[in-house]
Amino acid sequence: MRIRSAIPAETLLAASPMPLTGKNLPAFRRSLLHWYDQNRRDLPWRRSRDPYRIWLSEIMLQQTRVAAVLDHYRIFLERFPNVQSLAAASEDAVLAAWSGLGYYRRARMLHQCARELAQKHAGRFPQRAEDLQNLPGIGRYTAAAVASIAFAEPIAVVDGNVERVVQRFLGGHRTTPQIWQHAQALLARSRPGDFNQAMMELGATVCVPGEPRCLVCPIRRWCVTQPSRQAEAAQSQEDAARPRPAKRHPRFVRRRRTSGVCSTSAMAESASCNGERRPHSCPACGNCRNHPSLHVGCPGRAVAHVSPFHHRYRLHSARASECGVNQCRSCRQK
Ligand code: SF4
Repeated sequence: MRIRSAIPAETLLAASPMPLTGKNLPAFRRSLLHWYDQNRRDLPWRRSRDPYRIWLSEIMLQQTRVAAVLDHYRIFLERFPNVQSLAAASEDAVLAAWSGLGYYRRARMLHQCARELAQKHAGRFPQRAEDLQNLPGIGRYTAAAVASIAFAEPIAVVDGNVERVVQRFLGGHRTTPQIWQHAQALLARSRPGDFNQAMMELGATVCVPGEPRCLVCPIRRWCVTQPSRQAEAAQSQEDAARPRPAKRHPRFVRRRRTSGVCSTSAMAESASCNGERRPHSCPACGNCRNHPSLHVGCPGRAVAHVSPFHHRYRLHSARASECGVNQCRSCRQK
């Protein structure tokens, strides 16, 4: 099935901050293709337009990282350099060459497809995505990738990377069929294979999952998401430059905590400077009655000596003596 966009590009792209119209769509495509020409990774399957090599790379790259594929791709091609050699091999030999890549169903389908190509197509690939999809193991994405890269059919591809780029570029949430339509509307028909690879490369290296690298993105001028990211970055810079309130001194915190744990505010309030109204038990734990080392001083001067046995803290007030608190029987200090 040939994919055609039912929605005009002007409507699809109206959400962009600098709306993409038929007028500036060429600038968008030029910008992306120029970036791709300058920055694309040198991968072995990009050095060829041979549909067999492109098809093989697309199957190997399914759910597998580029780095893991490189060696296997080279070894597999040395063993099976074309459709005919792959079709003539036994399944065991194909599986052995595939060893280490996992998902062995891909290898079996690859083998089946090669046999069908050899038997029904004289070892040659159909040139249209629509026909490629009839072969075993070739779905919509792989068919579009092979047709656009090897045969320059103007048809867009959508993988996880392209989907992420389009979602961010246009903003909002779009369904997968809508993403395919948007990708088709964006496609540069003069270089469909390179454009598709540029979109995938952008998603793999710039518009990455998590934090995209918008500052080096070649299509940021038209991206809906990018201005809000700039605003976020500006806001965080502003926040970083703003003076922060001074941290409280830890000693201050400990005093408050000590008061809370042992004396509690109710207990402190009941104390007085001259010691006439000393409480005899801690309202927090109730275990301090008659405890010899419990003294509570003036609440306004940050209290007194507290037993280390019940309360874990012992805080000596420098001004305990001013408050009229007697000598601490635990540590013998005032
Ligand atoms: S500007 Fe940022 S969010 Fe937009 S497509 Fe580029 S990398 Fe992705």
